[in-house]
Amino acid sequence: MVTKKLDAINDYENSINIASEILKSGGIVAVPTETVYGLAASAFSDNAIKMVFTAKGRPQDNPLIVHIASIDMLDGITCDVPDIAYECAKAFWPGPFTMVLPKGDNIAESVSGGLNTVAVRFPSEKTICDIINTSGLPLAAPSANTSGRPSPTTAAHVIDDLDGKIDAVVMGGDCTVGVESTVVSLVGEKPRLLRPGAVTPEQLLKILPDLIVDDAVLEKLKDGETAASPGMKYKHYAPKTRAILVEGCSNSFVRFVNQKSDCAAICFEEEYYNINIPKISYGSKRDESTLAQNVFSVLRDIDSLGVKEVYIHAPSKEGMGLAVYNRLIRACGFNVVTL
Ligand code: AMP
Ligand code: MG
Repeated sequence: MVTKKLDAINDYENSINIASEILKSGGIVAVPTETVYGLAASAFSDNAIKMVFTAKGRPQDNPLIVHIASIDMLDGITCDVPDIAYECAKAFWPGPFTMVLPKGDNIAESVSGGLNTVAVRFPSEKTICDIINTSGLPLAAPSANTSGRPSPTTAAHVIDDLDGKIDAVVMGGDCTVGVESTVVSLVGEKPRLLRPGAVTPEQLLKILPDLIVDDAVLEKLKDGETAASPGMKYKHYAPKTRAILVEGCSNSFVRFVNQKSDCAAICFEEEYYNINIPKISYGSKRDESTLAQNVFSVLRDIDSLGVKEVYIHAPSKEGMGLAVYNRLIRACGFNVVTL
């Protein structure tokens, strides 16, 4: 299949119209959102959804997030929406925030991988909202990467993974948030944070004071344990190079990596000039939103360093740091060294 490259920077209207037509006729299109690029399909088309799973090589039991462009679109996609969901919507939509709610009758079976719930997000990025409104379709869209690879934050990342496997890519700019949405389940006894993102636990607690952070946010699932969010049980974001997450202060990190050979360091800007082995900075340790913007690009670049192992300096778990930490600990296969 030839993947159409739609230039949304220079030819926006046309790109939106062509993408919408492809989606209406059952095709699959990669689209920029504020979090990461998504691989979109009509949430009503079982066949298109199956094509998304195939293109990504995604396990069938890992459900997709349905993207909407108004709160009214919840009707039919969901049912029995609790009042608290509307309060969350008021606080965090449009934006990088996903709610797991009881599933309605209208959406394709394969969207939710056999669960009786559905994850829904109203993004803030204009491109995806314009495509939803032009096509009139809610769009099921996982990240537009090959399953297991770092999520794509540029059109080039999408093309690296999926060229020839999908109908089109809407080529917009780089994603501004850089990590996938915060996912909160509202179907259990208490609201539960399944995946941290740009909407932080501190912000969530103001609306959801009894929020529980699921163990899988920071810990490996134990053998035989069922994941509240199926995506959390899979290996994710990993470079081919063996990666190790390192916790400790800047001085200890610099001393530690400078003793290593045939290794590289992923470090903070503040440490860069003191490190004597191959290195990439992913931003200032005090600026978690920049760390989030860069984390997936850096994970994609690691293999080109040509080293045996890479040591990644862990961010703080405060604010958006928790989302970055959550992605890195998976990329490192829960391999952590504490200095
Ligand atoms: P991605 O599509 O790459 O952004 O990943 C979506 C994440 O949301 C995965 O971790 C899924 O397991 C999770 N998810 C989607 N739908 C549900 C659902 N109905 N219940 C729990 N988690 C879900
Ligand atoms: Mg993904």
